[in-house]
Amino acid sequence: MSSSPLFYQAGPAMPEVSHGRGVFLWDTDGKEYLDGCSGAISCNLGHHHEGIRDAMLAQLDRVAFTYRTQFENGPAMALAEALVDMTNHDLEKVFFVSSGSEAVESAIKLARQYFVARGESQRRHFVSLRPSYHGSTLGALGITGYQPLEAPFADITQGSIKVPGPDFYRHTEADDDAHIRKVLQETRERIEAVGGDRIIAVVLEPVGGASTGARMVNKAYLEGIRQLCDEIGCLLIYDEVLSGVGRTGTWFAYQQWGVAPDLLTTAKGLGAGYYPVGALLCRSELVDTVMASGGFQHGHTYAGNPLACATGLAAVEAIRNENLLDNVAARGEQLRDGLQALKARFDCIGDVRGTGVLWGVELVMDPDSKSPFPADANLFAKVTALAKEEGLLIYPRRTLDGVAGDHFLVSPPLNITEQEVGILLERLSRAME
Ligand code: PMP
Repeated sequence: MSSSPLFYQAGPAMPEVSHGRGVFLWDTDGKEYLDGCSGAISCNLGHHHEGIRDAMLAQLDRVAFTYRTQFENGPAMALAEALVDMTNHDLEKVFFVSSGSEAVESAIKLARQYFVARGESQRRHFVSLRPSYHGSTLGALGITGYQPLEAPFADITQGSIKVPGPDFYRHTEADDDAHIRKVLQETRERIEAVGGDRIIAVVLEPVGGASTGARMVNKAYLEGIRQLCDEIGCLLIYDEVLSGVGRTGTWFAYQQWGVAPDLLTTAKGLGAGYYPVGALLCRSELVDTVMASGGFQHGHTYAGNPLACATGLAAVEAIRNENLLDNVAARGEQLRDGLQALKARFDCIGDVRGTGVLWGVELVMDPDSKSPFPADANLFAKVTALAKEEGLLIYPRRTLDGVAGDHFLVSPPLNITEQEVGILLERLSRAME
């Protein structure tokens, strides 16, 4: 047992961090690590970004915290406008929070309040995917589809209707189109069994995070889901806590397929690892309806404070000023090619999927049967430890309920260089060997 009073999750002893510069971190023994997963897919600009540091210091010199019911603040207004611009005005209202889970809670509560305000309070169910991850607070956990996290709390969360999402690696249909038709049909049937007029919203991650190892959707799927939501009059929520703010090469991942949601959550990369900042973005009509019914009955103390928003604004401006969306596209191709080359060398790599600087690698016992390693092999932990020994940080997840294989995310900062991607791939290759 460690003598430290700190506790998080069970896991191996960790080195103590000393400092970070760009995509690299050093521990107090002087060992160097390439941050191949941006901390928790959050450090979009790497470590010690001078523009963000300077913006934060300048804001600290003015004022760090004011409460949202007492003052408007310039950074919050500017960041809200920047976010709306980033959606090309698909979404026009912004509600700030301090984490991804808070953003998802806010989406759940705003969507529910919208229907209560419209006299449709019989709508009380959410539809979400299995597997998925939407956060650790009880509302967000209730719509999360990941057994080990759900199990202890299943009796005290409302839960959601869990439907399968697209799985382009393991499906057994004749082709991807047939697979999407089947997934959409199953979703429709599950919703009809409950009654479309009892659904508040469908919630999904356009590109999955750790829970799925970066599973992707496609245009036909999003169009089908959008159509289904419109038919039954429910809302569509995209959870882009992890995939948002440039990580996939567009500001938000959904823009790659051109199918807009009614609400969108984002966090992680918005604060770029410097300060917790998240946001719920929504269509104006939802907000107008809720505001006209007495206001949104929800809020968090630190939400939208000046320091948080100045940090978020500096992070967004850095991505814009340093042309990082272009860099993400180029580095994304390099990562895809490099990871595919590793897949060709190592039989245990079953699938490589993703986009931009968000890649999932799924590990299987046998590439033909795609059978996962036994859960107690703890392969995800072993690969992560070996990569760490080689000086590379990756983001792991255990096999999913014995259905999919162990996997890990490779998701470096958006400003990683060509040479640094080379180092990342070399270290990963050594760990795999
Ligand atoms: N939604 C998604 C898609 C996420 O990836 C995460 C975090 N991994 C969350 C919500 C929750 O965010 P947070 O940990 O900041 O509460």
